[in-house]
Amino acid sequence: MKMSKLYMPTLREVPSEAEIPSHQLLLRAGMIRKLVSGVYSYLPLGHRVLKKIENIVREEMDRAGAQELLMSAIQPAELWQETGRWSDFGPEMFRLKDRNERQFCLGPTHEEIFTDVIRNELKSYKQLPLNIYQIQTKYRDEKRPRFGLMRSREFLMKDAYSFDKDEAGMENSYREMWEAYERVFTRCKLKFKIVEGDSGAMGGNNSHEFMAMSDVGESLVAYCDACDYAATDEKAAAVYDINLSGEDILPMERIDTPNVGTIEDLINFFNCGGEKFIKTLLYKVEDDVIAVLIPGDRELNETKLVNLLGVPEHLVELADEETIKEVTGANVGFAGPIGLKDDVKIYVDSRVTKMKNAIVGGNETDIHIKNVNYGRDFTGEVVEDLLLVKLGDRCPKCGAELKMDRGIEVGNIFQLGTKYSEGLNATFLDENGKDQKFVMGCYGIGVSRTLAAIIEQYHDDNGIIWPLVVAPYHVVITVVNVKKEDQVQLAEKLYNELSDMGIEVLLDDRKERAGVKFNDAELIGIPMRVTVGRDASEGKVEFVLRDSGEKSTIDEKDVSECVKREFERAKLKI
Ligand code: ATP
Ligand code: MG
Repeated sequence: MKMSKLYMPTLREVPSEAEIPSHQLLLRAGMIRKLVSGVYSYLPLGHRVLKKIENIVREEMDRAGAQELLMSAIQPAELWQETGRWSDFGPEMFRLKDRNERQFCLGPTHEEIFTDVIRNELKSYKQLPLNIYQIQTKYRDEKRPRFGLMRSREFLMKDAYSFDKDEAGMENSYREMWEAYERVFTRCKLKFKIVEGDSGAMGGNNSHEFMAMSDVGESLVAYCDACDYAATDEKAAAVYDINLSGEDILPMERIDTPNVGTIEDLINFFNCGGEKFIKTLLYKVEDDVIAVLIPGDRELNETKLVNLLGVPEHLVELADEETIKEVTGANVGFAGPIGLKDDVKIYVDSRVTKMKNAIVGGNETDIHIKNVNYGRDFTGEVVEDLLLVKLGDRCPKCGAELKMDRGIEVGNIFQLGTKYSEGLNATFLDENGKDQKFVMGCYGIGVSRTLAAIIEQYHDDNGIIWPLVVAPYHVVITVVNVKKEDQVQLAEKLYNELSDMGIEVLLDDRKERAGVKFNDAELIGIPMRVTVGRDASEGKVEFVLRDSGEKSTIDEKDVSECVKREFERAKLKI
């Protein structure tokens, strides 16, 4: 491809709307453009990378025996109503009506549709297991679309669904997908961890997430170096040593705390640590209000709360000011377990029951209560663990100290069991001629998010550093001065030679200064650069590697050898 013809609208300035490197660089390198919030167009260079990642995913899925098909993005409401997810999915679902007022959505995921496609036609256990997948555009009206391709409202996903006759079969299918995913992300050169995930809205009880490690990742991973435990912060059990004080239980005492509402203010006021307080968090769950009590020095894990309540996530939200005033009879900041409105159900993290002489809000403006003890002064439904894990907590498996790092969830695998085959009444005949429900798994890879994750792990101040396997082009040949005939001729000769070998080459034949061309080559991250300049007359060129910055002057006859060597180094065939 000649760069004089390439549509690559690069930007010199960092666009102000982009906060993280992948978003900034994708815009600056002219690879994507925003249409509206969370919706992007892929320009030629970005599109090439996307296709390459897609192909790696496809090859590994095919290798694992999965079969590709393609489903519509438009899905009828009826199928979602059968499983109850038409309402459960909530505002994340893009909904629309046709001219006859029939309801549809733009598919955010395809469990219902895949189950439906096999339910009346796959009849015998002899046809199992089956794993079918697609690489297709998904739509989710995310609450906070951000970070470019990382969390967008339209994105490319590979989604696969496995159907087995029993649990053991499903576990086998799960294992095959696990291994396929390891190959996909290894081939994409990502540094990743496989961690236990929360099954949440998908249902089922076992899931793992594939996390590309990165400081800008939206997910937190808790992991243990002493054993192999690793889980998302949503999933990880919070285990820590509680300081059981030997103090005697004292009588309750009301304390005036004017304008002292936040935990920080309280710590200063009472001159003690956060662990002395019980935090009372009020949540609205549909039309009800609940109170959740946790130790003052810890955070609530909302996922654990949602799972406990067994309602869709979008129906659980922090109570607003008006609701708080109504159920506590006080301003915000003074909620506590004693004297809440009667119909407020109280959930208590088990650690709270062990606290002695704690301080709580008085449900009265500017009042706190001291020396409050579970059992004597308040009760509630005790829940083993509602806390968010934190650095330094104990590993739930081996007891060592946990570490935490950020990650980008690029893929996940779920053991679904029979949730969808039950919901949609999808059955097959077993060996004894009896109807059985399919035991299912589902497996997603965020193809466009993977693209962004690769950039997060492979960039520097000058731009993207594509791993060769996904680079939009392998080599860029830069003509330093396009007015010099010998440079142009040599560059074209090399361009033809490499192209004939099957190498993807850009020829920078633009009438630009050399500096501009070098900068662009670095920005768009082409792994190898061949600079054809003054020494062209002597048959000498410069060979530069984007990743190490290594430069060497070589004979033009050796260019193809140098390129081949890079393919060997990356363990890739040309
Ligand atoms: P998240 O927790 O990040 O919202 P999810 O659990 O909703 O992800 P799944 O429904 O399992 O994600 O979707 C499968 C894969 O699709 C995810 O692992 C992720 O890589 C990708 N993905 C999900 N939501 C988005 C999005 N808004 N933009 C880009 N990719 C996404
Ligand atoms: Mg999501």
